[in-house]
Amino acid sequence: MNTDIQRYALTMPQYQETLICLQRILDFQASLADRIEPGLRIEPSAARAKLRAGLPLFAGEFLPIPVSLFQEALADLRPLLPAGETGQVALDRLLASSQLAPMQIETWLTELIADSAACVQRLADDTSSHPSTLAFLLNTALSPFLDSFAAAYREQVESVDWRRGMCPMCGSEPWMARLAHKDGRRILACPLCRTEWGFDRLRCPFCESQDQPLLRHFTVDDDEAHRVDCCDRCQRYIKTVDERVSDRPANLLVEDVITAHLDLLAREQGYV
Ligand SMILES: [Zn+2]
Ligand SMILES: [Zn+2]
Repeated sequence: MNTDIQRYALTMPQYQETLICLQRILDFQASLADRIEPGLRIEPSAARAKLRAGLPLFAGEFLPIPVSLFQEALADLRPLLPAGETGQVALDRLLASSQLAPMQIETWLTELIADSAACVQRLADDTSSHPSTLAFLLNTALSPFLDSFAAAYREQVESVDWRRGMCPMCGSEPWMARLAHKDGRRILACPLCRTEWGFDRLRCPFCESQDQPLLRHFTVDDDEAHRVDCCDRCQRYIKTVDERVSDRPANLLVEDVITAHLDLLAREQGYV
């Protein structure tokens, strides 16, 4: 079992059930990753040119995700999910959606990379599911594929001065952030391809505003290791783990689970 999951299951029993579910999902993703062949080929010079132009690397590329393996992955995911609207019911609706028919999947994946928020919203409308539930299901099943494609290009991303708030590989909005243990550098993380990239401390990753009075953060219960950075210009928020306070590298998948109370507080304050 993941050691962070073990630790938090003992110290934060209110999250124990969700953490056990996360462990099952991590095991599922690890076994799916073993079956994925690296298949994306972008010439190094073309990759650099794209990144330097501020375009995510996967934009406009055909992602070689085998449709049958992706559908199998979604079906295998089903027993790991809770029953009900936020789990198995949403997955069943997704599997029944015409957009996930074998002939449509390639088109749909390209659209997902071009504009993931719009694509997830459209699927949510089509399946009468909540966008955040769908985003979770899709990220869970797609992450091992995109992570494997991204792995070959991570060094290139590091060598290019990527300054945007969106993921340099797949163009997703960041999902969580950490302040690095060794130097406090702000690192954003992608929920889809698991890429991490550096970003200005005093800039909103969503609207890229640097207007200081509009950018703030809050913590709760003297827990300085976990904070919420919010932007009063675009009303978005992102949870951040300060590794200098927690004194260890953060596993953001686990940290996301044990900070669900921060999501509630941020939403209560009107952030999305
Ligand atoms: Zn990404
Ligand atoms: Zn903003």
